[in-house]
Amino acid sequence: MNRALPPDERLNVRTSLPFLAFHLIPLAAIWTGVPAGAVVLAVVSYVVRMFFITAGYHRYFAHRAYRLPRWAQAVMAFGGTTALQKGPLWWAAHHRDHHRWSDTERDVHSPTRGFWWSHVGWILCDKYSDTDEARIRDFAKYPELRWLNRNDWVGPVSLAVASFLIAGWAGLVIGFGASTIAVWHGTFLVNSMAHVVGRRRYVTSDTSRNSAVIAVLTLGEGWHNNHHHYQASARQGFRWWEWDPSFYALWLLERVGIVRDLKRPSERIVQSNLIEAGHFDVGMFRTGWQQAAARLAAMGDQAGDALAERRQALEDRIEAVRHDLDAHRRAQREAMAELAAVRRAARTGRPLGA
Ligand SMILES: [Zn+2]
Ligand SMILES: [Zn+2]
Repeated sequence: MNRALPPDERLNVRTSLPFLAFHLIPLAAIWTGVPAGAVVLAVVSYVVRMFFITAGYHRYFAHRAYRLPRWAQAVMAFGGTTALQKGPLWWAAHHRDHHRWSDTERDVHSPTRGFWWSHVGWILCDKYSDTDEARIRDFAKYPELRWLNRNDWVGPVSLAVASFLIAGWAGLVIGFGASTIAVWHGTFLVNSMAHVVGRRRYVTSDTSRNSAVIAVLTLGEGWHNNHHHYQASARQGFRWWEWDPSFYALWLLERVGIVRDLKRPSERIVQSNLIEAGHFDVGMFRTGWQQAAARLAAMGDQAGDALAERRQALEDRIEAVRHDLDAHRRAQREAMAELAAVRRAARTGRPLGA
Protein backbone atom coordinates (compact mmCIF):
# COMPACT_ATOMS: atom_id res chain seq x y z
CA MET A 1 0.00 0.00 0.00
CA ASN A 2 1.76 3.17 -1.03
CA ARG A 3 -0.86 5.83 -0.51
CA ALA A 4 -0.60 7.59 2.84
CA LEU A 5 -2.92 6.14 5.45
CA PRO A 6 -4.84 8.31 7.91
CA PRO A 7 -3.01 8.37 11.30
CA ASP A 8 -5.49 6.07 13.05
CA GLU A 9 -5.03 3.41 10.35
CA ARG A 10 -1.25 3.33 10.60
CA LEU A 11 0.64 0.67 12.50
CA ASN A 12 0.96 1.81 16.10
CA VAL A 13 4.44 0.50 16.86
CA ARG A 14 4.23 1.04 20.61
CA THR A 15 0.94 -0.83 21.18
CA SER A 16 1.81 -3.49 18.59
CA LEU A 17 5.20 -4.31 20.07
CA PRO A 18 3.98 -7.09 22.42
CA PHE A 19 2.21 -8.80 19.49
CA LEU A 20 5.22 -8.51 17.18
CA ALA A 21 7.73 -9.53 19.89
CA PHE A 22 5.58 -12.54 20.80
CA HIS A 23 6.59 -14.02 17.44
CA LEU A 24 10.16 -14.39 18.74
CA ILE A 25 9.12 -16.72 21.58
CA PRO A 26 9.49 -19.99 19.59
CA LEU A 27 13.16 -19.09 19.04
CA ALA A 28 13.70 -19.96 22.69
CA ALA A 29 13.27 -23.60 21.61
CA ILE A 30 17.03 -23.39 20.91
CA TRP A 31 17.46 -23.67 24.69
CA THR A 32 14.39 -25.66 25.71
CA GLY A 33 14.50 -28.19 22.86
CA VAL A 34 11.29 -29.56 21.34
CA PRO A 35 10.17 -32.49 23.52
CA ALA A 36 7.20 -34.57 22.36
CA GLY A 37 5.12 -33.60 25.41
CA ALA A 38 5.34 -29.91 24.52
CA VAL A 39 4.39 -30.63 20.90
CA VAL A 40 1.32 -32.60 21.98
CA LEU A 41 0.39 -29.77 24.32
CA ALA A 42 0.76 -27.27 21.45
CA VAL A 43 -1.51 -29.30 19.16
CA VAL A 44 -4.19 -29.82 21.82
CA SER A 45 -3.99 -26.16 22.78
CA TYR A 46 -4.35 -25.16 19.11
CA VAL A 47 -7.40 -27.31 18.50
CA VAL A 48 -9.20 -26.39 21.72
CA ARG A 49 -8.57 -22.67 21.36
CA MET A 50 -9.48 -22.67 17.68
CA PHE A 51 -12.77 -24.25 18.74
CA PHE A 52 -13.37 -21.47 21.28
CA ILE A 53 -12.74 -18.88 18.56
CA THR A 54 -14.78 -20.45 15.74
CA ALA A 55 -17.63 -21.97 17.72
CA GLY A 56 -17.56 -19.38 20.52
CA TYR A 57 -16.36 -15.93 19.47
CA HIS A 58 -17.55 -16.33 15.89
CA ARG A 59 -20.62 -18.54 15.63
CA TYR A 60 -22.00 -17.83 19.10
CA PHE A 61 -21.08 -14.28 20.10
CA ALA A 62 -20.97 -12.67 16.66
CA HIS A 63 -23.78 -14.62 14.97
CA ARG A 64 -25.94 -16.14 17.74
CA ALA A 65 -26.11 -19.36 15.73
CA TYR A 66 -27.22 -21.36 18.80
CA ARG A 67 -28.10 -20.86 22.44
CA LEU A 68 -26.15 -21.64 25.60
CA PRO A 69 -26.94 -21.59 29.31
CA ARG A 70 -25.30 -18.65 31.05
CA TRP A 71 -22.53 -20.70 32.70
CA ALA A 72 -21.53 -22.26 29.36
CA GLN A 73 -21.59 -18.86 27.72
CA ALA A 74 -19.07 -17.66 30.33
CA VAL A 75 -16.89 -20.74 29.71
CA MET A 76 -16.98 -20.03 25.95
CA ALA A 77 -15.97 -16.43 26.56
CA PHE A 78 -13.15 -17.35 28.93
CA GLY A 79 -11.90 -20.05 26.55
CA GLY A 80 -11.90 -17.51 23.71
CA THR A 81 -9.77 -15.07 25.69
CA THR A 82 -7.02 -17.72 26.06
CA ALA A 83 -6.37 -17.35 22.31
CA LEU A 84 -5.12 -13.77 22.88
CA GLN A 85 -7.49 -12.22 20.37
CA LYS A 86 -8.84 -9.66 22.81
CA GLY A 87 -12.22 -9.99 24.53
CA PRO A 88 -15.42 -11.60 23.23
CA LEU A 89 -17.34 -8.32 22.97
CA TRP A 90 -14.54 -6.61 21.06
CA TRP A 91 -14.14 -9.57 18.70
CA ALA A 92 -17.82 -10.15 17.98
CA ALA A 93 -18.71 -6.45 17.62
CA HIS A 94 -16.03 -5.94 14.97
CA HIS A 95 -17.00 -9.12 13.21
CA ARG A 96 -20.61 -8.00 12.99
CA ASP A 97 -19.34 -4.84 11.32
CA HIS A 98 -17.39 -6.93 8.84
CA HIS A 99 -20.61 -8.61 7.74
CA ARG A 100 -22.58 -5.40 7.71
CA TRP A 101 -20.10 -3.62 5.44
CA SER A 102 -18.28 -6.52 3.69
CA ASP A 103 -15.83 -5.30 1.07
CA THR A 104 -17.03 -1.71 1.18
CA GLU A 105 -15.09 1.31 2.46
CA ARG A 106 -16.45 0.63 5.93
CA ASP A 107 -15.42 -3.02 6.13
CA VAL A 108 -12.98 -3.38 9.05
CA HIS A 109 -10.74 -5.81 7.19
CA SER A 110 -11.51 -5.96 3.50
CA PRO A 111 -8.77 -7.72 1.51
CA THR A 112 -9.44 -5.28 -1.31
CA ARG A 113 -7.09 -3.09 0.79
CA GLY A 114 -4.32 -5.67 0.56
CA PHE A 115 -3.19 -8.76 2.43
CA TRP A 116 -1.36 -7.06 5.31
CA TRP A 117 -4.30 -4.82 6.17
CA SER A 118 -6.91 -7.60 6.23
CA HIS A 119 -4.59 -10.04 8.02
CA VAL A 120 -3.22 -7.91 10.89
CA GLY A 121 -3.01 -4.26 9.82
CA TRP A 122 -6.51 -3.48 11.02
CA ILE A 123 -5.75 -4.96 14.47
CA LEU A 124 -2.44 -3.15 14.91
CA CYS A 125 -3.75 0.37 14.27
CA ASP A 126 -5.70 2.57 16.70
CA LYS A 127 -8.91 2.84 14.74
CA TYR A 128 -10.46 -0.42 15.90
CA SER A 129 -8.87 -0.87 19.32
CA ASP A 130 -11.97 -0.05 21.39
CA THR A 131 -15.11 -2.09 22.00
CA ASP A 132 -18.28 -0.27 21.01
CA GLU A 133 -20.73 -1.88 23.42
CA ALA A 134 -23.68 -0.41 21.55
CA ARG A 135 -22.76 -2.78 18.70
CA ILE A 136 -23.16 -5.81 20.91
CA ARG A 137 -25.78 -4.87 23.49
CA ASP A 138 -27.24 -8.39 23.55
CA PHE A 139 -24.10 -9.72 25.26
CA ALA A 140 -22.74 -6.53 26.83
CA LYS A 141 -25.62 -6.72 29.30
CA TYR A 142 -23.88 -9.60 31.13
CA PRO A 143 -21.43 -8.24 33.75
CA GLU A 144 -19.26 -11.38 33.60
CA LEU A 145 -18.75 -10.89 29.85
CA ARG A 146 -17.94 -7.21 30.31
CA TRP A 147 -15.42 -8.22 32.98
CA LEU A 148 -13.75 -10.79 30.72
CA ASN A 149 -13.72 -8.30 27.89
CA ARG A 150 -11.94 -5.72 30.07
CA ASN A 151 -9.60 -8.24 31.68
CA ASP A 152 -8.79 -10.25 28.59
CA TRP A 153 -5.30 -11.02 29.94
CA VAL A 154 -6.54 -13.33 32.70
CA GLY A 155 -7.25 -16.25 30.34
CA PRO A 156 -3.93 -16.25 28.48
CA VAL A 157 -1.86 -15.75 31.64
CA SER A 158 -3.66 -18.69 33.30
CA LEU A 159 -3.02 -20.84 30.24
CA ALA A 160 0.64 -19.82 30.11
CA VAL A 161 1.10 -20.79 33.77
CA ALA A 162 -0.72 -24.08 33.22
CA SER A 163 1.42 -24.85 30.16
CA PHE A 164 4.55 -24.24 32.23
CA LEU A 165 3.31 -26.52 35.01
CA ILE A 166 2.42 -29.27 32.52
CA ALA A 167 5.54 -29.31 30.34
CA GLY A 168 8.07 -26.90 31.84
CA TRP A 169 9.85 -24.21 29.82
CA ALA A 170 9.20 -26.09 26.56
CA GLY A 171 5.54 -26.15 27.53
CA LEU A 172 5.62 -22.37 27.78
CA VAL A 173 7.65 -21.80 24.61
CA ILE A 174 6.08 -24.43 22.30
CA GLY A 175 2.88 -25.53 24.03
CA PHE A 176 1.74 -21.98 24.66
CA GLY A 177 3.88 -19.61 22.54
CA ALA A 178 4.13 -21.37 19.18
CA SER A 179 0.58 -22.62 19.48
CA THR A 180 -0.78 -19.12 20.12
CA ILE A 181 0.97 -17.78 17.02
CA ALA A 182 -0.52 -20.60 14.94
CA VAL A 183 -4.04 -19.90 16.26
CA TRP A 184 -3.59 -16.21 15.45
CA HIS A 185 -2.58 -16.67 11.86
CA GLY A 186 -5.06 -19.50 11.31
CA THR A 187 -7.86 -17.20 12.43
CA PHE A 188 -6.55 -14.21 10.49
CA LEU A 189 -6.46 -16.28 7.29
CA VAL A 190 -10.24 -16.25 7.32
CA ASN A 191 -10.17 -12.45 7.12
CA SER A 192 -7.37 -12.22 4.58
CA MET A 193 -7.32 -15.30 2.34
CA ALA A 194 -10.94 -16.52 2.57
CA HIS A 195 -11.92 -13.46 0.54
CA VAL A 196 -9.15 -14.09 -2.00
CA VAL A 197 -8.53 -17.82 -2.61
CA GLY A 198 -11.06 -20.56 -3.22
CA ARG A 199 -14.29 -20.85 -5.13
CA ARG A 200 -17.58 -19.05 -4.98
CA ARG A 201 -20.79 -21.04 -4.90
CA TYR A 202 -23.22 -18.30 -3.88
CA VAL A 203 -23.91 -14.81 -5.06
CA THR A 204 -23.13 -12.45 -2.20
CA SER A 205 -22.48 -8.72 -2.17
CA ASP A 206 -18.88 -9.39 -1.05
CA THR A 207 -15.87 -11.41 -2.25
CA SER A 208 -16.06 -14.36 0.19
CA ARG A 209 -14.89 -17.78 -1.03
CA ASN A 210 -14.87 -21.43 0.00
CA SER A 211 -11.47 -22.96 0.73
CA ALA A 212 -10.91 -26.51 1.96
CA VAL A 213 -7.37 -25.70 3.13
CA ILE A 214 -8.58 -22.87 5.35
CA ALA A 215 -11.40 -25.11 6.59
CA VAL A 216 -8.86 -27.71 7.75
CA LEU A 217 -6.70 -25.09 9.50
CA THR A 218 -9.63 -23.40 11.23
CA LEU A 219 -11.91 -26.33 12.13
CA GLY A 220 -14.45 -25.45 9.46
CA GLU A 221 -14.28 -21.68 8.92
CA GLY A 222 -13.00 -22.02 5.36
CA TRP A 223 -16.51 -22.34 3.87
CA HIS A 224 -16.63 -18.60 4.02
CA ASN A 225 -18.78 -18.03 0.95
CA ASN A 226 -21.39 -20.37 2.45
CA HIS A 227 -21.10 -18.35 5.63
CA HIS A 228 -21.59 -14.97 3.97
CA HIS A 229 -24.52 -16.45 2.07
CA TYR A 230 -26.22 -17.51 5.30
CA GLN A 231 -24.51 -16.17 8.43
CA ALA A 232 -27.13 -17.36 10.88
CA SER A 233 -26.12 -21.00 10.46
CA ALA A 234 -24.00 -22.79 13.06
CA ARG A 235 -23.03 -25.14 10.28
CA GLN A 236 -20.72 -23.66 7.64
CA GLY A 237 -19.93 -26.77 5.64
CA PHE A 238 -23.25 -27.16 3.82
CA ARG A 239 -22.39 -30.37 1.97
CA TRP A 240 -21.48 -33.62 3.73
CA TRP A 241 -17.90 -33.45 2.47
CA GLU A 242 -17.35 -29.90 3.68
CA TRP A 243 -15.19 -30.53 6.75
CA ASP A 244 -16.63 -28.57 9.67
CA PRO A 245 -15.47 -30.07 12.99
CA SER A 246 -16.62 -27.03 14.99
CA PHE A 247 -20.13 -27.90 13.95
CA TYR A 248 -19.67 -31.61 14.75
CA ALA A 249 -18.54 -30.65 18.26
CA LEU A 250 -21.52 -28.33 18.68
CA TRP A 251 -23.78 -31.11 17.47
CA LEU A 252 -22.35 -33.38 20.22
CA LEU A 253 -22.90 -30.63 22.77
CA GLU A 254 -26.48 -30.42 21.55
CA ARG A 255 -26.92 -34.16 22.08
CA VAL A 256 -25.82 -33.84 25.70
CA GLY A 257 -28.15 -30.90 26.22
CA ILE A 258 -25.71 -28.01 26.65
CA VAL A 259 -26.25 -26.39 23.23
CA ARG A 260 -29.81 -25.54 22.15
CA ASP A 261 -31.40 -24.27 18.92
CA LEU A 262 -28.40 -25.16 16.80
CA LYS A 263 -29.20 -23.43 13.51
CA ARG A 264 -28.70 -25.26 10.23
CA PRO A 265 -29.35 -24.07 6.69
CA SER A 266 -32.64 -25.22 5.19
CA GLU A 267 -32.63 -26.95 1.80
CA ARG A 268 -34.18 -23.82 0.32
CA ILE A 269 -31.26 -21.70 1.60
CA VAL A 270 -28.70 -24.24 0.34
CA GLN A 271 -30.23 -24.14 -3.14
CA SER A 272 -30.81 -20.38 -3.38
CA ASN A 273 -28.65 -17.80 -5.15
CA LEU A 274 -26.35 -20.36 -6.72
CA ILE A 275 -23.90 -18.88 -9.23
CA GLU A 276 -24.14 -22.19 -11.06
CA ALA A 277 -27.84 -21.50 -11.63
CA GLY A 278 -27.00 -18.31 -13.52
CA HIS A 279 -27.42 -15.71 -10.80
CA PHE A 280 -25.37 -12.58 -11.37
CA ASP A 281 -22.30 -12.55 -9.13
CA VAL A 282 -22.72 -9.00 -8.00
CA GLY A 283 -20.06 -9.18 -5.23
CA MET A 284 -17.20 -9.94 -7.60
CA PHE A 285 -18.55 -7.53 -10.21
CA ARG A 286 -18.78 -4.69 -7.71
CA THR A 287 -15.33 -5.36 -6.25
CA GLY A 288 -13.66 -5.57 -9.66
CA TRP A 289 -15.38 -2.38 -10.73
CA GLN A 290 -14.49 -0.54 -7.52
CA GLN A 291 -10.83 -1.49 -7.75
CA ALA A 292 -10.56 -0.43 -11.38
CA ALA A 293 -12.47 2.80 -10.71
CA ALA A 294 -10.19 3.62 -7.75
CA ARG A 295 -7.12 3.06 -9.90
CA LEU A 296 -8.55 5.30 -12.64
CA ALA A 297 -9.33 7.99 -10.07
CA ALA A 298 -5.75 7.74 -8.73
CA MET A 299 -4.49 8.35 -12.26
CA GLY A 300 -6.34 11.62 -12.23
CA ASP A 301 -9.14 10.41 -14.46
CA GLN A 302 -12.27 12.41 -13.67
CA ALA A 303 -14.40 9.33 -14.26
CA GLY A 304 -14.77 8.34 -10.55
CA ASP A 305 -18.37 9.43 -9.81
CA ALA A 306 -19.61 8.76 -13.31
CA LEU A 307 -18.27 5.20 -13.05
CA ALA A 308 -20.00 4.61 -9.72
CA GLU A 309 -23.27 5.76 -11.26
CA ARG A 310 -22.71 3.60 -14.31
CA ARG A 311 -22.09 0.55 -12.13
CA GLN A 312 -25.27 1.17 -10.20
CA ALA A 313 -27.23 1.54 -13.42
CA LEU A 314 -25.91 -1.81 -14.70
CA GLU A 315 -26.78 -3.57 -11.45
CA ASP A 316 -30.26 -2.03 -11.47
CA ARG A 317 -30.82 -3.15 -15.04
CA ILE A 318 -29.79 -6.72 -14.28
CA GLU A 319 -32.06 -6.73 -11.25
CA ALA A 320 -34.92 -5.39 -13.34
CA VAL A 321 -34.73 -8.09 -16.01
CA ARG A 322 -33.95 -10.91 -13.60
CA HIS A 323 -37.10 -12.84 -14.39
CA ASP A 324 -36.77 -12.63 -18.14
CA LEU A 325 -33.97 -15.14 -18.64
CA ASP A 326 -32.78 -14.08 -22.09
CA ALA A 327 -32.73 -10.40 -21.22
CA HIS A 328 -31.03 -11.27 -17.94
CA ARG A 329 -28.21 -13.12 -19.69
CA ARG A 330 -27.80 -10.33 -22.21
CA ALA A 331 -27.64 -7.67 -19.48
CA GLN A 332 -25.07 -9.76 -17.58
CA ARG A 333 -22.91 -10.16 -20.65
CA GLU A 334 -23.02 -6.43 -21.36
CA ALA A 335 -22.17 -5.60 -17.76
CA MET A 336 -19.18 -7.95 -17.81
CA ALA A 337 -17.99 -6.43 -21.10
CA GLU A 338 -18.18 -2.96 -19.57
CA LEU A 339 -16.27 -4.18 -16.52
CA ALA A 340 -13.56 -5.55 -18.83
CA ALA A 341 -13.35 -2.15 -20.55
CA VAL A 342 -13.03 -0.30 -17.23
CA ARG A 343 -10.32 -2.72 -16.12
CA ARG A 344 -8.47 -2.31 -19.38
CA ALA A 345 -8.56 1.47 -18.98
CA ALA A 346 -7.24 1.15 -15.42
CA ARG A 347 -4.43 -1.12 -16.60
CA THR A 348 -3.30 0.79 -19.66
CA GLY A 349 -3.88 4.25 -18.22
CA ARG A 350 -5.84 5.25 -21.33
CA PRO A 351 -9.08 7.06 -20.45
CA LEU A 352 -12.31 5.22 -21.05
CA GLY A 353 -13.61 5.43 -24.56
CA ALA A 354 -10.28 6.64 -25.95
ZN1 LIG B 1 -15.88 -12.45 5.56
ZN1 LIG C 1 -19.07 -14.31 10.36
